[in-house]
Amino acid sequence: MSESDKARRLLIVKLKAEGVIRSPEVERAMLIVPREEFIPQEYRRFAYSDNPLPILKGQTISAPHMCAMMCEALKMRKGERVLEVGTGSGYHAALCAEIVSPTDKPIKGYVVTLEYYKELAKFAHENLKRTGYDTRVDVIACDGSMGSPTRIKYDKILVTAAAPSLPKTLVDQLRNGGRLVIPIGSYLQQLTLVEKVNNEIKIKELGGCIFVRLRGQLGFKDETSL
Ligand code: SAH
Repeated sequence: MSESDKARRLLIVKLKAEGVIRSPEVERAMLIVPREEFIPQEYRRFAYSDNPLPILKGQTISAPHMCAMMCEALKMRKGERVLEVGTGSGYHAALCAEIVSPTDKPIKGYVVTLEYYKELAKFAHENLKRTGYDTRVDVIACDGSMGSPTRIKYDKILVTAAAPSLPKTLVDQLRNGGRLVIPIGSYLQQLTLVEKVNNEIKIKELGGCIFVRLRGQLGFKDETSL
């Protein structure tokens, strides 16, 4: 077993003990997806400390506990269609792909992930290709605050940048019975779970969090990243 594999296992033991990882699906995905492959070389040695790390364009790969929390809140199942807004490194999209379209199973779901910066979309695509997720994850460079250009409905949607408010465009792209998680607020944000039941939405706050800011039409207009 490599040093990275050992460090990944230890981190997962910790996240389980803390009650962050609760389901076998999320545990399995976190064990399989190599986070170090989604991090610039100079920070790879920190891949399994439970922290966000710099990637490109002043953006960050989210901390493992935050990825796990969001995956648990979404309750993703095999075969589902998932939309992510905020590709960043591609790591979280790969976790989602490993849950809805597991490497060793015939059931195929898929993930569409939207990234505002072209450089990051390219970085993520390279990372996803190297790790074998490029056939299950489509990276599209566009303003994800306006939703997916494909205009289909998704079973699950995650937004990994903080929004000033809940974008209606994304709620409209959520299938009835679907779940959406999104950090809302400017500095200290609330991780918010939106459930669409009988075409009405139920909103639940899951706790405080800190993400970089959402850009684009329904994002923040100033230039700071936090
Ligand atoms: N999920 C990522 C981390 C995301 S950091 C990972 O696993 O690494 C937030 C990302 O959201 C950044 O890459 C940022 O460029 C992107 N972003 C910000 N505003 C966006 C928008 N309007 N549309 C799409 N992506 C956006």
